[in-house]
Amino acid sequence: MKNLCRVLVLCCAIVTTATGHNTSDQNDAIAHYSDRAVELLRDAISRETAQGRGLVPAYAESLKQVFLEAGFSPEALTIVPYGETASLVVRYEGDGSSSRKPILFSSHMDVVPADPESWLRHPFELQEDETFFYGRGVLDNKFDVTLLTTLFVWLKESGFVPNRDLIIAFTGDEESFQETVQQLARDYRHFVDAEYALVVDGGGGVLNDANEAIQFQVGFAEKTYATFSMTAKNPGGHSSMPRADNAIYDLARAIQRLEAYTFPVETNEITLTYFARTAPLLDNEVGEAMARLVADQNDVEAIATLRAQPQYVGTLGTTCIPTMLSGGHAENALPRAVTAVVNCRIFPGHTPAEIMRELQRVTDNSDLEWRVVGVPVTSPASSFNTEVMDAIAASLGPIHGALPIVPKMGSGTTDGAYWRAAGIPSYSFTGIFINPKDSFAHGLNERVPKTAVGESLRFWRAMIDELATNRSGTAQ
Ligand SMILES: [Zn+2]
Repeated sequence: MKNLCRVLVLCCAIVTTATGHNTSDQNDAIAHYSDRAVELLRDAISRETAQGRGLVPAYAESLKQVFLEAGFSPEALTIVPYGETASLVVRYEGDGSSSRKPILFSSHMDVVPADPESWLRHPFELQEDETFFYGRGVLDNKFDVTLLTTLFVWLKESGFVPNRDLIIAFTGDEESFQETVQQLARDYRHFVDAEYALVVDGGGGVLNDANEAIQFQVGFAEKTYATFSMTAKNPGGHSSMPRADNAIYDLARAIQRLEAYTFPVETNEITLTYFARTAPLLDNEVGEAMARLVADQNDVEAIATLRAQPQYVGTLGTTCIPTMLSGGHAENALPRAVTAVVNCRIFPGHTPAEIMRELQRVTDNSDLEWRVVGVPVTSPASSFNTEVMDAIAASLGPIHGALPIVPKMGSGTTDGAYWRAAGIPSYSFTGIFINPKDSFAHGLNERVPKTAVGESLRFWRAMIDELATNRSGTAQ
């Protein structure tokens, strides 16, 4: 039976290329499911699923209904409550013919808050013009929640059976505490355990000003996010009788030492590939500096040029920067305690403790008191995955031609960091192509190009064929 399936799939693949017949069938299907996706997106945007609103569970419930109506069994759908929010886990059962662990698809149902007063259009109503859909979450991340839902519905309604289980995890607090992903990885591991996770959030296609696709970004790693506080203490006293030592002076000196210090330049396979593949796209000194750095990691001029660019400085190593100050208790009293908060984005391979020791060495004052603020999230870089990279190239080809596929290391923290920390390698990318200038995720007037709906469906349908059917050699 399995062999017969393989032969049939192979025949279909040949028919597709030979006659183009299935292509027009697929175009009809994409038109149909694009309409359904837009309706789901409209419903999604109308739900104000920001932190503290308590509206995520109802959204999860409504998505669950969509899966049920498409033919998923109730056992395949699990809502996992967590405080005022929740996650939804969907299992698309395969025939097991590849004997491989499932693939996990991860997106989030919550959004960053939005104030209708400051938006041009109402953030919780899906609005559109000729080019864009608008609304809070239309890019981050309800578009992809909608897309994955529609994709699974399409697969199910067409009778598709993958050669391994496919799992969706829609989390409920990615934009705030990121605890639902931790809950799933820790307490519901059997539901979400996978060979790897595709985090469908961020990354993806880049358009230039002429609206041409120029590259496709895949997140392989995230820097560790860690925050420290350093406090200078002093016996204090009356400001009319100043002492020579002063907590504000002590802290100011420490901050100046931090300002003068830069962490060593570091590179890894991900960042070097990123620079190598981005350099040819930038027709300026920044592109040149990238190419030179790839050739020689000690090129001081290239490093200086890249470090002067806020969007690239974080790719070159660990960064730590003071972000908050507090201290003193009266205008006429000598301060007894003054604190600076220092936020670090740590290059993979270093622990927060190691970086704190380095900051203590740099500030050179053993009287300063150091603390770790919150719980830092350390996640390893995911190993290069040729299967996923090849599948992306094959799936993008018919839509956008051959594009540079660029691995990226994020400087923020997403759910992907927790999947990686739990031992599930994760790769972040969306099927959306957008000009970075139009990307207003987290900001006002968030938008997504309308063409992204059909293109993303086509892309993800092809990805499923690449990764979860037996027609490719790697998926046996
Ligand atoms: Zn997001």
